[in-house]
Amino acid sequence: MPEVLEAPLVVEFPFTRSLGPVQSAFLTGLRERVVLGVRTGDGRVLVPPVEYDPVTAEEIRDLVEIAPTGTVTTWAWNHAPRRGQPLSTPFAWVLVRLDGADTALLHALDAPGPDAMHTGMRVRVRWAGERSGAITDIACFEPYDGGEPYDGEAQHDGEAQHDGVQQPEPAAHTGEFADPVTGIVAPARLDYTYSPGRAQSAYIHALGDRRMVAERCPSCRKVYVPPRGACPTCGVATSEQVEVGPRGTVTTFCIVNIKAKNLDIEVPYVYAHIALDGADLALHGRIGGIPYDQVRMGMRVEAVWTEGSRYPDHYRPADEPDAAYDTYKELL
Ligand SMILES: [Zn+2]
Repeated sequence: MPEVLEAPLVVEFPFTRSLGPVQSAFLTGLRERVVLGVRTGDGRVLVPPVEYDPVTAEEIRDLVEIAPTGTVTTWAWNHAPRRGQPLSTPFAWVLVRLDGADTALLHALDAPGPDAMHTGMRVRVRWAGERSGAITDIACFEPYDGGEPYDGEAQHDGEAQHDGVQQPEPAAHTGEFADPVTGIVAPARLDYTYSPGRAQSAYIHALGDRRMVAERCPSCRKVYVPPRGACPTCGVATSEQVEVGPRGTVTTFCIVNIKAKNLDIEVPYVYAHIALDGADLALHGRIGGIPYDQVRMGMRVEAVWTEGSRYPDHYRPADEPDAAYDTYKELL
């Protein structure tokens, strides 16, 4: 039985977004240790604030300042914090309804353990030492015994009554600060372990022997590489293995001018669709061993393995005439 392959994979990118007037005021406020909410036409106070009423879709801009104390409305214990989460030690994810607000904010709560947690517990904001205008300016919440307990259902009778206790009306706020934050970069990252299935494992194992193994569809007879275990056209399972390559034909290509992070390849370089001999679907590969501006459609290439590499590092020109267009036009 062949070795079961698996590899850690990471998909990571920074997401840059601009902020509208409400989010800008909210995040700039956090930088200044001020929590802002927004009041809807019917008097509800939403924290975190939004620009449009989620019920009526009406534009809302009526900012109010909210207390940095509140009540946990629900929680879940996080035993094993992951990279990038608010705290590196176990903590509770909490929904906190800040005093004066009608909605709850999701954040982390620093508590000694799940036994120390309960719905209705009073908490307050722990501000980050260095703040930049981001939700992480609230480092987390922490237990706080200076307030009234939670009694269940929120009430709303127009007099800002919450949690069964009378609270001061949130004060109006202009939302104006010096040097407002107008955009943020939100990093997105997904870590996972990938384990290829039967067809792809066979393909990867064969690459280790510098062979390229495809699979033929029993119905349409097309040969796919890398094999997927099923024909994408007929939808039937494929199992017949066929060796293809190692030479092939450049069908289309692009010139890459942007140097990717963590990729040790000088730009510009050419990335191409290559139809390996015997295959009915082109795969991707980098073209090397030729100036980037001399790569052309129909150019014949061959796979180059570098020492210790399981995959072809790149494809280089093969010493033979270009393929006629008719031989690869169906593979574009
Ligand atoms: Zn088929």
